[in-house]
Amino acid sequence: MELSKSFVDVWITYFGNGSLLQPLWDSLRLNYKDYLRSPLFPVALTVSSYFVFCIPFLACDIMGEMWAWIQQFKIQPSRRPTASSVLHCASVTLFNHMFLVLPASVAQWVWRPPVDLPDQAPSLFELLSGVIGNLLLFDFQYYIWHLLHHKIRWLYVTFHAIHHQYSSPFALATQCLSGWELITVGFWTTLNPIILKSHLLTTWAFMVFHVYVSIEDHCGYDFPWSTTHLFPCGFYGGPSKHDVHHQKPNTNFAPHFSHWDIIFGTHSGTSLNIKGRIHPQCGS
Ligand SMILES: [Zn+2]
Ligand SMILES: [Zn+2]
Repeated sequence: MELSKSFVDVWITYFGNGSLLQPLWDSLRLNYKDYLRSPLFPVALTVSSYFVFCIPFLACDIMGEMWAWIQQFKIQPSRRPTASSVLHCASVTLFNHMFLVLPASVAQWVWRPPVDLPDQAPSLFELLSGVIGNLLLFDFQYYIWHLLHHKIRWLYVTFHAIHHQYSSPFALATQCLSGWELITVGFWTTLNPIILKSHLLTTWAFMVFHVYVSIEDHCGYDFPWSTTHLFPCGFYGGPSKHDVHHQKPNTNFAPHFSHWDIIFGTHSGTSLNIKGRIHPQCGS
């Protein structure tokens, strides 16, 4: 009885109320209030996260066999990004940021009023469940979008083919996207936290984590610490499954989790055998 009571106390202290994140939230509000309230902050956060998260994966590609231990985790070891493919993706990304992200950011800055920062921080439970909830909602939206853009030839050729120029993806291929796809993804990542009434701290955590897992999906490496291995039974796709989508484009349409592909029969786990390392799938 005493044991269960203390467990409940600990759970409430660390997960169930805002006291754990309150000092962090208070410090952010007191010291960076003007930046955090700006409609430009989420854009600056996601754009800077994108380039920072790409750097370590790019370094692995550039160092190649000089980092032999890292290379054992390469999903397609015989296929490495060339300088021209990296430059092509960098130029597409730069073009999209100059002509889409920047004008959209300026428009938000002009027309959207600064947001109010609530006094209360979210509890750790609210933050974690909010991030997972936002990921699940995005996963469903993008699954439908992605399926349609593969099944309808005009949509594929016009909007999605550019992302499939590389059958062996690498970090910078993440945002090698058409303007329409980038706008759609940006719209959902902005709208979903509003639909789910997420706290601002949860919203920002989701945005940064979403950028990370999107890059990880394309990084070309299946590290032991990758998100693929976070959940049992292959419930979370991660880099190994999205790599299969780039090799076999009519499979694995969901960007993050596996359940929609399993339900609709589009799931393929064949690259789960990477250099002889079989990843266990429940029931298979
Ligand atoms: Zn992709
Ligand atoms: Zn695709």
